[in-house]
Formats: sequence, structure tokens, C-alpha cells
Amino acid sequence: MNDRLLPAVSFQGVTRRYGAVTAVNDVSLDIAQGEFFALLGSSGSGKTTLLMLLAGFDKPTEGRVLMSGTSVTEVPPHRRQIGVVFQNYALFPHLTAAENVAYPLKMRGIGRAEREERVKAALSLVNLTERGASYPSQLSGGQQQRVALARALVFGPSLLLMDEPLGALDRRLRDQMQLELKRIQGELGITVIYVTHDQSEAMAMANRIGIMAHGQLLQVADPETIYALPSDHFVARFLGECSILKVTSIDGGRGYEIAGARQALPSVTSKPFDIVVRPENVSVHSAAAQATGNVFEVPATIRDITYLGAGWRVTLTLPDGQSLLATIVRGDEIAGYLGPGKPVFARWAPTSVAVLPAEGSS
Ligand code: ADP
Ligand code: MG
Repeated sequence: MNDRLLPAVSFQGVTRRYGAVTAVNDVSLDIAQGEFFALLGSSGSGKTTLLMLLAGFDKPTEGRVLMSGTSVTEVPPHRRQIGVVFQNYALFPHLTAAENVAYPLKMRGIGRAEREERVKAALSLVNLTERGASYPSQLSGGQQQRVALARALVFGPSLLLMDEPLGALDRRLRDQMQLELKRIQGELGITVIYVTHDQSEAMAMANRIGIMAHGQLLQVADPETIYALPSDHFVARFLGECSILKVTSIDGGRGYEIAGARQALPSVTSKPFDIVVRPENVSVHSAAAQATGNVFEVPATIRDITYLGAGWRVTLTLPDGQSLLATIVRGDEIAGYLGPGKPVFARWAPTSVAVLPAEGSS
């Protein structure tokens, strides 16, 4: 069988318990060769544990981990051909940048001449050619992280694991490193699994995102899908601001109603459901428009206005008391009319709505 067709990584029913704590709970996931996969979740959701199980620093309580179709349960970490980069760069302070990068090669018994050549190439890859003789303390945080990256890549791994690698850097440097990581991944064609708690970072970088909570993988999809069609309340909220609305199912689940206004849904939903709408998809108007087609329109009252620079975030109250977020940009007809307590009309297109399983029954 052609290796390129097999998933680079497969987690099959992987669980890791520490006493009473289930850090990873029955995770099954395939990651394709060459994919940039982001594991996204808040602190304590099990992301690092999952990486450690893959890197071989820890063993699953149940299930197994495969690389290119072969179980790696009995393979020690240094034989798995995996490069790892952590948030705290973990560089050796008494070694220069070049010596740090050379370390994995030395461990693998690679001779001096080849070592020097490979270190040079790795430092060049991360744009640090000039700094090989510097000690970590003489380098900025961003430069230290580049050294850590060069060290993780120098022995030519097929898989790179990164655990919140940019967490210690400031915003501007982080944005720059994100672009550079994408470039390096493209150049090497390597598979990357990238752990982060920052949803914008995951969306900017990944081909696919896996959302974790309480050790479980809740949804795996490409960034556009996971943002537009979240699988549940948690995923919807985690991916950015949204309004989750209680609705009344109509026509046997073919549509919904809020305060007398109705909209058809693209497919029938038989179980109880809520809907989610993102603020940028809600438009606000001073007058009713007898909206055409399947556009949804409901009267509302402005409750709160926040200036964002590029526009305004407006919180509306619907006739049934529910809250709805909308974004207004400069130049919108409504912009000159904004004020708390003003009556308006909120509108959205059918493509802006995602259906979520109803949560609780409050
Ligand atoms: P994340 O990386 O998403 O922040 P972790 O994988 O580090 O999450 O942790 C997941 C859960 O497992 C947490 O509740 C954490 O306290 C627990 N945990 C992780 N490692 C250990 C360990 N060695 N012993 C006991 N509990 C652990
Ligand atoms: Mg972690």
C-alpha cells in the first residue's frame, strides 16, 4: 500500500486516565499526510496529553495510536521521527543556537560534517543564518522560538508537533511567525499538528481544526465549516461571538419562528433545536422592508452599542426578550440612527443560520 495514501496519524479510540481524571476521552481522528491540523481547546481540555501520547512520552489507557498505518505503541519517542516544539522553548542555555540545533543529530550519531551542513540548512530555513554562534540569552523570544523550530526540524521528521508555540510572543511577532510557519510547512510538505487555545490562530493557519473540551473531540472540520456550521453550543461560542436563539419549530421541523417571524430551513430537523447567527450576518434597519424571498426579518430594540473602530457592535432585544448581536459598519444606513431604546428591524439570510441541538430546556 502506498504510504502517502495512509493517514500520517490515526488515533483509534484513545483514552488517557490519570486516576479519576479522564484527560483524553475516546478520541478517534485521522490526520492526512501534509495536513496542517490545529487542535483547539481551552486550558485543561486534553490537548497536550493527546500530543504526548502521539510523541510517545505517555501511553494511552485504552485505544491505540498509528503512524502511516502502523501501531507505534511499542516504538520509543526518538524512533517515531517526530519533531516537537513547546511554548517554553526548552533550549539548552549553555549551548549556542547552532549547538542546540545540532543536538538531535548528535543524539542520532550523525557525523560532524553532515551535522554542520544540516544545522546550516535548518538555521537558514528559519532565517537565523547569522545567529548560530549566539547563546539563547542573547536572542529575543521570537529568535529563541526559531531555534527551537530549527532543532525540531533538523533531523528531517515527517511530523511536527507544536504545543502553543507562539503563546509567549507578542501579537505582532505572533502574526509574523504564523506566516513563517505556514511558509516552512509548505516548503517541507511536512504534517503539522498545532495546539492552540486561540481560535483566530487556528483559523488563520489550519487546513482542519479539531475542537476539544473535557478530553473529547467535539468537531473536526475545515475552518469555514466549523465557523459557519458548528456542531453544538460549545463549538459555536468557542469560535467567536454569536447569538444562540431559542426558536419554535414549524412545519414539522422545516422551519422556525421567533416572535411571529418565520424562516424555512434548508433541511428538516426532527429533534428540538436552537439556531445560531453570527453578528456580521445580521443587518439592522430603521424600517421594515417586507423582505423578499426567504429573508428573515424581526422587530427589535437597541439595547447597547459598542464602538469597535471599523464599526459598531450592537446588542438588540427581540420581542420575546432574547438578545441578538449585530455588526454595523460605517456607511450603513442605520449608522446615523443608532441610539439605545430605538426601535429597529433585524434581518438575516437563510444561509446565515446554523441549526444546533437544543441545550437544556430552560
Ligand atoms: P491542555 O493541554 O488542553 O491544557 P492537558 O492535556 O494538559 O490539557 O490536561 C488535561 C487534563 O488532564 C487536565 O485536567 C490536567 O489537569 C490533567 N492531567 C494532565 N497531565 C496529568 C498528569 N500527569 N497527572 C494528572 N493529571 C494530569
Ligand atoms: Mg497544554
